[in-house]
Amino acid sequence: MPARTTRQEARAWIFAAFGAQLDRMIPEDESVPLKGATFADFEDQAEVLAQTALPVVLEERAALESNAEAEAAGRCPHCGSEGAYLEKEVTQPEVRSLHGPVVLTRQHARCRSCGGSFYPSGSGVGIAGGSSADAAGGAAGGAGGRLALLRSGGAECAGPPPCW
Ligand SMILES: [Zn+2]
Repeated sequence: MPARTTRQEARAWIFAAFGAQLDRMIPEDESVPLKGATFADFEDQAEVLAQTALPVVLEERAALESNAEAEAAGRCPHCGSEGAYLEKEVTQPEVRSLHGPVVLTRQHARCRSCGGSFYPSGSGVGIAGGSSADAAGGAAGGAGGRLALLRSGGAECAGPPPCW
């Protein structure tokens, strides 16, 4: 079972996530005035950066696990049949991390013999273990990660950096 991404791609997404937020907080263009006046303002800005960029780090790290993507459904846990297949559609459950919501990818399998559905082993890495924020009842919010980046990036770019 391979990883869902490469280190190079994961790092590119993470740098892009930080870069996009840094551009908002400290624009490179000297003619763009800095926002905020008090340290509390700066803290708020840094918090936005953290809540936006850190979920990307978690999402990409999870995708780098060697079992992030199942290549086969494996044995059906309901009836023991080997005749199960991976469904084409994946779901993207949102887990609460210490730094805001993280969107993971979860595969599903279905059994030809009994019709049962199940998660192929290894799919949805990081979900089974939960997160420390889940245990602590962390705050929920909007989806983070690549999805949020794609949303904020607009329609002109639907791929990884450097196009945005
Ligand atoms: Zn079955």
